[in-house]
Amino acid sequence: MSITENVKQLIAELPQDVKLVAAAKTRTPDEIAEAVAAGIGIIGENYVQEAEPAYQKIGNRVAWHFIGHLQKNKVKKAVTLFDMIETVDSVEIAAEIAKRCAQIVKTMPVLIEINSGREAQKAGVYPENAEQLISAIATMKNIRVTGLMTMGPLTMQAEELRPCFRETKVLFDRVKKLALPDVEMRYLSMGMTDSYKIALEEGANMVRIGSKIFGQRA
Ligand SMILES: *Cc1c(COP(=O)(O)O)cnc(C)c1O
Repeated sequence: MSITENVKQLIAELPQDVKLVAAAKTRTPDEIAEAVAAGIGIIGENYVQEAEPAYQKIGNRVAWHFIGHLQKNKVKKAVTLFDMIETVDSVEIAAEIAKRCAQIVKTMPVLIEINSGREAQKAGVYPENAEQLISAIATMKNIRVTGLMTMGPLTMQAEELRPCFRETKVLFDRVKKLALPDVEMRYLSMGMTDSYKIALEEGANMVRIGSKIFGQRA
């Protein structure tokens, strides 16, 4: 099936209130433009350098989400390109985002990345440390927590990821209930090509899908 057909099928299949992020790593600007023409409204990029040519072609008719691991020296550029950063996992990176956004008079919506698989040396904050991080970010200007994101261990099969998604949803609901000032718990970004159906069953309202749109990566 073509990118166009894949996008149309996914949009028809997903519940109305679920945001679809097209995960575009390794795809060409032309491939991404085809997905946009077919109805994609949010592009997810893992690398700032890779996003630039696609952004140049497509521009801000769509929203751009950063979904990779953000390095401090890339934040300055990232805040100019992206409309949301889904992978904030430390006070340090949040402070850098806030600082760089202040310089361009912008407030960046971010998601907190949860290391729901509790994998050492992997991105994301452990679930038990999330609330403290969110409270710290809430005191910063030019950055706003708008939800949570998780991946789960890449080696796991979809069904094995269910407990990771479930724990992240429990955390999402708990933080939402706290109604912390300047925190807006709106988005729960979980699920990729092989796992999005399970993520939706566990309460995701944002899914990040690559292969099912663009085909298998080389
Ligand atoms: C690549 C990627 C995806 C999409 O993966 P697929 O299996 O191709 O759907 C989603 N989220 C992140 C963070 C990714 O890096």
